[in-house]
Amino acid sequence: MTRALISLGSNVDRERNLPAAAGALKQHADLTVIDTSCIFESPAVGGDYPAFFNAAAVVETSLDPATLKATLRGIEAGLGRVRTGDKNAPRSIDLDVVLFGDLEDDDLGIPDPGLSEYSYVAVPAAEVAGDWVVPGRNKTVAEIAEESLPPSLRKVPMAEQDLNLTPDDAFEEYGPADETFNPRFEALVREQLEILGEDPDRQGIQRTPYRVAKSMAFLTGGYTQSLKEVVNNAIFESPDSEMVMLKDIEFYSMCEHHMLPFFGRAHVAYIPEGKVIGVSKLARIVDVFARRMQIQERLSNQVADALMECLNPLGVGVVMEAAHLCMLMRGVQKQNSEMITSALRGSFREDARTRSEFMNLVGHELR
Ligand code: ZN
Repeated sequence: MTRALISLGSNVDRERNLPAAAGALKQHADLTVIDTSCIFESPAVGGDYPAFFNAAAVVETSLDPATLKATLRGIEAGLGRVRTGDKNAPRSIDLDVVLFGDLEDDDLGIPDPGLSEYSYVAVPAAEVAGDWVVPGRNKTVAEIAEESLPPSLRKVPMAEQDLNLTPDDAFEEYGPADETFNPRFEALVREQLEILGEDPDRQGIQRTPYRVAKSMAFLTGGYTQSLKEVVNNAIFESPDSEMVMLKDIEFYSMCEHHMLPFFGRAHVAYIPEGKVIGVSKLARIVDVFARRMQIQERLSNQVADALMECLNPLGVGVVMEAAHLCMLMRGVQKQNSEMITSALRGSFREDARTRSEFMNLVGHELR
């Protein structure tokens, strides 16, 4: 099996085609999708064309590189891609092999020269393959992405545009009007609208029960994800014993008392003892526990315990700062006040110097 990095791009019906292509990769018998990036938006090059959605995926495959390329062409054709002479023409989907193990093959265009030229290739790639050393460049994908970043690339923030969703779940508005997602849940939302004094058959909210059911399934998707599945095989042996920290991990959760959102930033650190984890996975672990009914204290503890469980490190520190809509919207707290929680394990709890190093690193972020 070989690992390959694939770039995805679309500027025709992109809301549908990009997730559909990710879905096609996942369903393909010869490919195992290891990880997918978030979606980024980038302006089209070479003409007055619609902006693109871009993403990247890491797959494992037994195919040889040429067959993999042909397979991707097949998926493109299935999504209506017609190749023309204009290489900048709008396209329903563009799938390219960016990296294939440590292969360097100019004829096949691997590594894809676009990785060094275009941030819309490099930045999504860095999310899923940041540590991958690019053959012939002696640099990691993350380093190349950092060099390439122009201000024009925008991370599409909408949570439902996460490629980890199935294509149908990702873009609910595109479903047929009579489609149901969770009939029991939708009946409840309909009743709730009635109780609130709304007319559930009013045009603007006819599909609201369906949309609420789908978005709620996404927002509470952590219940059906396991830590193992999220961490996958992104744990590596390493002799390092310096503190590893990821700051400002954006998270969104729902308070279990009012079923209203609370959201903010998590700062997660650990001191490895033989094992490290891909940095992007720290954010994924936060999401697994944030996408549930939560209280912030428990969320912080669960993230800390999860890291202890999968890395068995010398210690873990988690600080979360969040605004709670149940307080803000009801005027319980002054606007902009944030709640701060922490969870410390191992040396972060026992060693005053470690703890203060961590708190100092977090410190200037605290407001
Ligand atoms: Zn609350």
